[in-house]
Amino acid sequence: MSSSATSPPDARHCAAGVAALVCLLVLGACLLGILTRPIGHLAALWPANAVLLGALVRFPRLARPAGWCGALCAYLLADLLAGSSLQQTLLLSAGNLSGVIVGFLLLRRLHAGHRSLRTPASVPYLVLAIVAAASASGCFGAITDPLLYGGKPMGGWVFWFMTELVNYMLFLPVMLTLPACRAVRTERRRRPLWTAEQARKLLPLLGLLVSAALCLLIGGPGVVAFPVPALLWCALSYRLFSTALLTFLASGWVLVSIALNGLSLAPLDVNSRPVLLSLRLGVSLIALAPLTVASVMSARNELLQRMRYLASHDQLSSLLNRWAFREQASEQLSLLAQQQRPLALLMLDIDHFKRINDNHGHAAGDQVLKAFANLAGSGLRKDELLARIGGEEFALLLPGCDLEQAREIAERIRQRFGDTQVQLDTQTISCTLSIGAVVAWPPFGDLDGLLLAADRMLYQAKALGRNRCEITFLGGASEPGAEPPGGPL
Ligand code: GH3
Ligand code: MG
Ligand code: MG
Repeated sequence: MSSSATSPPDARHCAAGVAALVCLLVLGACLLGILTRPIGHLAALWPANAVLLGALVRFPRLARPAGWCGALCAYLLADLLAGSSLQQTLLLSAGNLSGVIVGFLLLRRLHAGHRSLRTPASVPYLVLAIVAAASASGCFGAITDPLLYGGKPMGGWVFWFMTELVNYMLFLPVMLTLPACRAVRTERRRRPLWTAEQARKLLPLLGLLVSAALCLLIGGPGVVAFPVPALLWCALSYRLFSTALLTFLASGWVLVSIALNGLSLAPLDVNSRPVLLSLRLGVSLIALAPLTVASVMSARNELLQRMRYLASHDQLSSLLNRWAFREQASEQLSLLAQQQRPLALLMLDIDHFKRINDNHGHAAGDQVLKAFANLAGSGLRKDELLARIGGEEFALLLPGCDLEQAREIAERIRQRFGDTQVQLDTQTISCTLSIGAVVAWPPFGDLDGLLLAADRMLYQAKALGRNRCEITFLGGASEPGAEPPGGPL
């Protein structure tokens, strides 16, 4: 029996889908290359190989036998449609595929960070893989050129190598940095349509347009480098993919303009093959500079983000730490004061926590802390802040919360924590919680005053026997319907 007869129908459908998808992708890219081939067989752009390689590296599910067959069919079909003989078609397709196979085998071995150009060393790695892939295609060029066009093997190798190198360098970074599809965000923050910051963000792009205008106005061989300063500015300002895309557009525009004689490069003769190849190579090598800067910036931003997280979060509970809580709570206080809205500040302390450590070990205590963080942190609104401000002490800031709501929330947390059974290796344990809270209306005074008031209430809850919640009211204008300001309620 054939293998297709034994494979499940779903797998067969899936393989057919992959083959069709890859075939369409490569065919589309081949046709684009053929359409932009106005001067003999020196195609201005040949995106097919780089697009195929990028797709296989980014989406490994396509890199199965069905995907490779789809790609082969597309290459054969495109060359036959372009009027090539069968011998030409087979040789050209083999040349195209050989480079993709070599590039795929090398890029697949790279670390994911290098592969997506998000590390400082990724551009050199990418260049090495591209050089190897272009060399493999060059070997087919060394056979194809003498056979099909009466050229010399070395000339064929150089031409295929250079052409492939340029195309991979142009298209591959865009494919490798393409953002992954994410689930559509349900919640959208309302932003003003046009802010000064958004306008400032457009400046690097404007710079790129100005440099394109200068290319047209000034001309000469130097045009290949005109967009570089603006592209470096883009690399410092935009995300990696945006920079890769803009670099591709700028370099592609220069290359196509050169091929169509749209840029005046006098005294260079762009109809001479060595000059044209040298220009193409120059444009694509120059494009490596903004890509390298963008990769370094991407790695730096990721590192900064991680450091910011580590500096503001507690490692055990993953909640905000005391420092971050103070910062964010102070911001909330000013905002609530402006909006004339109340707040509740809760201090939560696990009862007799030391006994848990003493009786069950430090690891068991850690388990209890994590269980509390999960319980209290679940279902928090975006503007509510929960932080671990001490060993087994936590603070919870509830903006817009009045006395009744604060009491209800505090009681709910206390009861749910009391009911929680924390699973240890061989047994389960439970503990209780004491809460001191303050509800305040503007003007609040500073955060320290509120923390002190909540701490006093916590002390009182402990003194009154623990596993309870004590709340006080503090502030200027009294809340409508609230108990009078003053002592504990
Ligand atoms: P009270 O009911 O009065 O709050 O008593 P308590 O035992 O909960 O409070 P106490 O301040 O006496 O003890 C707190 C203990 O918390 C002491 C300290 O060893 C422990 N602790 C602090 N940080 C950690 C931690 O990260 N993990 C663990 N397991 N224990 C911690
Ligand atoms: Mg305690
Ligand atoms: Mg304590």
